[in-house]
Amino acid sequence: MRIAVGGIHTECSTYSPVLMTAEDFRVLRDAELLGAEYFNFLAAAGIEHVPLLHARAVPGGPVSRAAYELFKAEFLERLQAALPIDGVYLAMHGAINVEGMDDAEGDWISAARAVVGPACPIAASYDLHGNVSQRIIDQLDIFAAYRTAPHIDVRETMVRAWSMLVETLRTGIRPGVAWAKVPLLLPGECTSTEDEPAKSIYLGLPAFDVQPGVLDANLMIGYVWADEPRATACAVVTGTDRQAASRAAEEIAQQYWNARENFGFGPVTGPLEEMLDIAASATTSPVILADSADNPTGGGVGDRADVLRALIARNWHGALLAGITDRPAVEACFAAREGTSLSLRIGGSLDPASVPAEVTAKVLRLDDSGAAADRQAVVEVDGVTIVLAARRRPYHNIEDFRRLGLDPKAVRLLVVKSGYLSPELAPIANPNLMALTGGVVNQDIANLASRRRARPVFPFDRDFDYAPAAAFSVRWRE
Ligand SMILES: [Zn+2]
Repeated sequence: MRIAVGGIHTECSTYSPVLMTAEDFRVLRDAELLGAEYFNFLAAAGIEHVPLLHARAVPGGPVSRAAYELFKAEFLERLQAALPIDGVYLAMHGAINVEGMDDAEGDWISAARAVVGPACPIAASYDLHGNVSQRIIDQLDIFAAYRTAPHIDVRETMVRAWSMLVETLRTGIRPGVAWAKVPLLLPGECTSTEDEPAKSIYLGLPAFDVQPGVLDANLMIGYVWADEPRATACAVVTGTDRQAASRAAEEIAQQYWNARENFGFGPVTGPLEEMLDIAASATTSPVILADSADNPTGGGVGDRADVLRALIARNWHGALLAGITDRPAVEACFAAREGTSLSLRIGGSLDPASVPAEVTAKVLRLDDSGAAADRQAVVEVDGVTIVLAARRRPYHNIEDFRRLGLDPKAVRLLVVKSGYLSPELAPIANPNLMALTGGVVNQDIANLASRRRARPVFPFDRDFDYAPAAAFSVRWRE
């Protein structure tokens, strides 16, 4: 038995003016794919795994058409060359937006289906922030999505999808997929599974898995910063019994809909100045302040200096800001060398709407791992330490700081570009604050420009009725 493995994995804010290119993706192929820690669960007796191509990028703006077509062409070429194939496993995110195209995952998965034909089972794992469509469901036999946000079950989710595929190949019993849309688009920051009401809904999903005829039950929050027709929340259930799967999907969809008025932010959240007032009077540390609208792991640009400008205006001392994406500033620091001071313009290097800070900075440390795109510089501006990165990236792991000789636990105020905090930062936040800043993934959801979304959808619309109605994959209609 041969399972082909691949996919494309990122999340795209259609409000971002910064297109993703091929260089933004980490591409795995051949032995590198099978050897990657990400995929090293792929081992089962009697099954050969055939690596195709897996392209993954930090979330951002829409993917350039050329980059998408390049990856897709190579993926399909490899899939064609790998035939005959008994099953396909796709590791997807689900919220890609490609220039001039709606439903890129639908396009990708349909193209894979066209190569392998109707008899071959296809399984996909998804991020719960993906936007699903009928076109996607129609090409799939198996679906599993994360059940945690922050995502601490990435591997378990991939294993769930892949295991169902392995089981299908071994038993010959092919499952199917039912789904029920929920006209509800909420940001991840209001639907963290650490907080109610999402917590209880997600904790209830495994109980559906053990119902007769159900294999794997999922709730997709969807991705609100993509103004596209397919954007929606939904329940997606993989099962072996159509009735059981559709009933489970409708029940989960109804649960989510019923809770719609009860979602809110987990941490203390408010306008930036209010959050800085709270931080200023905090007697515990580190205060970790999330600059929510510029969070690169949610699709934010990551080049904004709003919080830096606010700290400078307050003459703030003793803060660490990690990080701001600004390649020209990093290059200027490298030209100036460690220990020197220079005039720097920080911020606004990518998004024309991002206002820079004009500062005199002292270069504390330069980090060069070889590639210019990976360079980082640590600078100090009047008692505020700032990490500058050449590329768009988060600083969400302790190791990101340790590498630069920084200790996030030792500072009074740590500012990160994040929504809900990462699993490594959340436990050290004392307390955690979230600032409602400006940017391409801002939390003012009801006021996001909404030109292409299917309506009505809560919270853009409030006065409408809803009753869940499950639909099946075209492969599972009888
Ligand atoms: Zn996600």
